[in-house]
Amino acid sequence: MFKIIDGKEVAASVRESIKKEVEVLEKDGKKTGLAVIIVGNNPASRVYVNNKKKGCAEVGMESFEYALPEETTTDELLELVEKLNNDTAVDGILCQLPLPKQIDEKKVLNAIAPNKDVDAFHPVNTGHIMIGDHSFLPCTPAGIMEMLKYYNISVEGKECVVIGRSNIVGKPMAMLLLGQNGTVTICHSRTKNLKEVTRRADILVAAVGKAYFVTEDMVKDGAVVIDVGMNRNAEGKLCGDVDFDKVKDKCSFITPVPGGVGPMTITMLLKNTLTASKEHFNK
Ligand code: NAP
Repeated sequence: MFKIIDGKEVAASVRESIKKEVEVLEKDGKKTGLAVIIVGNNPASRVYVNNKKKGCAEVGMESFEYALPEETTTDELLELVEKLNNDTAVDGILCQLPLPKQIDEKKVLNAIAPNKDVDAFHPVNTGHIMIGDHSFLPCTPAGIMEMLKYYNISVEGKECVVIGRSNIVGKPMAMLLLGQNGTVTICHSRTKNLKEVTRRADILVAAVGKAYFVTEDMVKDGAVVIDVGMNRNAEGKLCGDVDFDKVKDKCSFITPVPGGVGPMTITMLLKNTLTASKEHFNK
């Protein structure tokens, strides 16, 4: 019998502990603040930014929104980032992606001060993750590790297979599983005999971006299946990378979409912002 990993429940528990720590900092005279930059009129970005601001309010953090017009240039955005890097009320800086085409995204992300880089996209933070000595963890993989911990799912010695090698999800996910002594394999679009690899997995993480990509024949009996995908199916309904209805009976644990990994991502952003605030405060 499979068990659902309830991302909403785990997120609520982590947010509760963040809230308590934010209150303690505030009693000591330190407010925690997140700057959120949004450029242009992408409706999905607007939803994400609103959810991030709501998350901040829920745990007692301040959020400062900077909404810039679609035609913003790289230099204008860099100027804002520089200003926020030097603003002591701002502990974390988040630049909502994707940015309009004319903006050099890499240049902007690399301009965010590493100690305010709460998305953990800066190469300095990526490097820290590689050597296992980090302040910030990328939000989605960190949220997954938090879920595994909450459900007492040990990674040590397990065969872990990650499908997807993006810098945001797949690669850091693999590093975090390795950090917990998993035996990790990363698969991608050039992987041969994918099914044979995924069937070895005790813990299978799907971060592909293709609806219902993972089918029951790809999953070992008793596996833990984590679905990162956020896709729309033919009916326009939100769905994951895993064919949940067919795969679930083979699993020991499985995350649903929605209600699995998704709620954890913003929660870990809040956790990173708290970490930044504590580090700034200790200076
Ligand atoms: P991405 O950058 O597009 O990466 C997708 C990965 O899947 C790539 O590494 C690609 O391989 C691999 N892939 C594609 N087709 C494949 C195939 N047939 N067989 C094996 N591997 C294949 O996507 P991402 O940013 O990592 O996101 C993945 C999914 O997670 C998306 O649905 C996204 O919306 C979702 N997501 C959700 C959250 C959340 O909070 N829930 C957060 C972030 C992302 P190549 O490298 O060879 O191209």
